[in-house]
Amino acid sequence: MARSEIRKDYFKGEYVIIAPNRAKRPHRTGNIVEADSQCHFCPQNFKNEVITYQDNNYNGDWEIVAVVNKFAALTVENPDAYGQTEVIIETRRHGLDINDFSVDHIVRIFNAYTDRFNYLRNLDGIKHVIIFKNEGGKAGASIAHTHSQVIAMPFLPPKTEKEASDYNKYRLEHATCPYCDIIKKETDKPRVIWEDENLFVLSPYASEDPYGVWLLPKRHMRTVADLNRAEKESIAIALKMVLGKLDEFGISYNYFIENAVNAEDYHMHIKIKPRPNIWAGLELGTGVVINPIAPEYAAKIYRGEVKIEADPKF
Ligand SMILES: [Zn+2]
Ligand SMILES: [Zn+2]
Repeated sequence: MARSEIRKDYFKGEYVIIAPNRAKRPHRTGNIVEADSQCHFCPQNFKNEVITYQDNNYNGDWEIVAVVNKFAALTVENPDAYGQTEVIIETRRHGLDINDFSVDHIVRIFNAYTDRFNYLRNLDGIKHVIIFKNEGGKAGASIAHTHSQVIAMPFLPPKTEKEASDYNKYRLEHATCPYCDIIKKETDKPRVIWEDENLFVLSPYASEDPYGVWLLPKRHMRTVADLNRAEKESIAIALKMVLGKLDEFGISYNYFIENAVNAEDYHMHIKIKPRPNIWAGLELGTGVVINPIAPEYAAKIYRGEVKIEADPKF
């Protein structure tokens, strides 16, 4: 695909310009260097942490742990900025990435997400719980010790509200779920990265992010708490594949788990937003996003069909 194309999102009415000729090789973002002795998430530096979830290893030490972020903007003690922020420390070992873990270990991280999601969404005064991960300096992670965050908020963030209302509008018009329909529409298309009986992984048609990826469970379910063991294993396999590639290329990323709002219907999924640092001013000024990486090309990269050294478009 050499010519640019204006593409519209599957159902949200947002436009993206896919402009492959503008592609640049992404910058390596460099590693965050931090000694273990200064890392707040290394076990030996724990001081009076409020632990809310713990999954032990064979030695009886914690391997995955959730702690309350004492320095967070939102706390349950503050009525003027009410909420709770928890950090899920995904391993006791410093300097690993999530793609370095076994499938079983990633499943256990998702068990931690589920536990904290269920607890926090039932707290009084909480309207929404966000689960996300930042990996690498450009994606906003300030600590090299791999972790995720779970934030319980007393209001519905505007982006979440828009997603929910676009979802409901589509259901009213079509009597089907847009994400179930996306799986049907995209099957056998060049944007498919990987699939098995539980999970559909694609580079979305109108991706606003270079190398953006969606992980859609094939079963229609509302939240991360509805995932069964086999579905978590499929997610783990897909995350190792996709995040392993981003790690290899030195691209920072965020991922978000998109869950149903309150009692609404929804199709839970995971969005991976790489941060290759190739944004131009136009996007920031107009809100019209230009993505220099065609989703079909990104899918090829993830499927391992392109040797990046041999291809100047990357
Ligand atoms: Zn550490
Ligand atoms: Zn669905």
